[in-house]
Amino acid sequence: MVRGRARADRSGERRKGRLAMTDLLVGGLWAPATGGGRFKTVNPANGSVITECAEASTADVDRAVAAARAALRDPAWAGMSPAARARLLWRVADLVEEHASELALLETRDNGQPISVAREVTVAGTAEHFRYFAGWCTKIEGSVLPVSYPDTLHYTRREPVGVCALITPWNFPLMIAAWKLAPALACGNTVIIKPAEQTPLSTVRLVQLMERAGFPPGVVNLLTGGPAVGAGLAVHDDVDKVSFTGSTRVGRSLVYASAGNLKRLTLELGGKAPSVIAADADIDAAVAGNVQGALFNSGQVCAAYSRFYVDRKRADEFTAKMADAASGLKLGSGLDPESRLGPLISEEHLNSVDTHVRGARAQGAELVTGGRRAEGELAEGYFYEPTVLAGVGDEMTIAREEVFGPVIPVIAYDDPDELVARANATEYGLAASIWTGDLATAHRLAAEIRAGAIFINMPHVPDAATTWGGYKTSGWGREMGPYAIDAYTEIKGVWTHLGGV
Ligand code: NAD
Repeated sequence: MVRGRARADRSGERRKGRLAMTDLLVGGLWAPATGGGRFKTVNPANGSVITECAEASTADVDRAVAAARAALRDPAWAGMSPAARARLLWRVADLVEEHASELALLETRDNGQPISVAREVTVAGTAEHFRYFAGWCTKIEGSVLPVSYPDTLHYTRREPVGVCALITPWNFPLMIAAWKLAPALACGNTVIIKPAEQTPLSTVRLVQLMERAGFPPGVVNLLTGGPAVGAGLAVHDDVDKVSFTGSTRVGRSLVYASAGNLKRLTLELGGKAPSVIAADADIDAAVAGNVQGALFNSGQVCAAYSRFYVDRKRADEFTAKMADAASGLKLGSGLDPESRLGPLISEEHLNSVDTHVRGARAQGAELVTGGRRAEGELAEGYFYEPTVLAGVGDEMTIAREEVFGPVIPVIAYDDPDELVARANATEYGLAASIWTGDLATAHRLAAEIRAGAIFINMPHVPDAATTWGGYKTSGWGREMGPYAIDAYTEIKGVWTHLGGV
């Protein structure tokens, strides 16, 4: 433990701009990976290496699963009262707030998001999530069910699912880690968290703070590393549940990987959210909300509005105003407080976004603004100019595939009666947005569009008290709110014959 704490503290310090290397946490001990593997994590604003992290091996996966299994039976955790669990989670929220500046800076350096977003959305949202689920610890109830047998009592218990592997993506590393850690622990599970290899640092720091909050050893384990680490957890027969946020491609592979022991799966996957702008919409409000909905975190948001159905009568006006607003946003390093748009996560991802935009133009879309990598002093980073495309058709690849970048494809429509079918003509179903002055129309569309979250006259926002998750290939299950309690508990029925034995 002493060694672990020394390493933990060292990981938080900065040396000449490079952070100290980070280790794995297994069973309460911080140590390098078995075999000594490491990988680099890079600042996407300038391509520089921030530090190196331990690359967990198969042996580390086995060790972490064994530690989480042992902790599940440890009276220090299994016997901890709900009120004590609540205090632990609340303490994590306090520690996150005490270290808000440090966490925000780490997130901005590793992920690229503007420092204001890191502070006000990422770190604030992380603390709120732990507080919200701290409240749940003492409210996880069973019920008494009215069985039709004489002299018989039936009640239900909600029990932890067990050992949970939590696998997160790079787009909101800290916040999505909290979306999984807080409810999993509130329900009494033990966890192995595996952050994305592009952005491990804020999760490493969060786990250090959780250790300081006082979780018994083995309750929270951390494995950093690439896809093989996630795959190793997914296929492991002693893991009871995987909660995964990431691409639909990998989500599908997890369905197969988990088949051995039929482990529980929560899958939060990709999206292609339509935004409908009706003829009677307040266009200026719609522009402000849709710029936010499309370009927040440079469009690297699963719920990003990414195909815009605009009534043809307003399409030119909407397109021109969106182009003005988008091109007016300052692109730059997230550490510059003036920046509104940060870099994309990697060179590879930038090339993928650019390929989508070029493909759309080749298929007949008109480039209104953007459409290229930023030059000059931003050339070293992975910056892409916010892009508006007009004249887009439903059949174009840009209207069907997830781009996950700062791209706004505008599709003019003539017949409002076709909107539901066109909005639903996608494999995804994560989110949708509707902009209109007619709330009856808005609620009719909200009922008919097959997506997990509908935003009427507003950009997408997360809130711990609501529900998050998708229809169709956007995933399985729901996070947040009371729904997360379903995701992290098993329900047991207990029957008692009251007539004597
Ligand atoms: P990704 O699927 O490539 O990786 C996500 C995580 O899975 C990483 O930790 C990665 O190491 C791990 N991984 C990769 N291959 C694996 C495998 N075979 N088995 C187990 N784990 C594996 O996704 P990404 O590129 O990091 O994130 C972007 C994607 O995430 C987008 O599609 C986006 O829409 C989605 N996303 C969804 C939500 C949501 O709530 N629905 C939120 C954020 C991001």
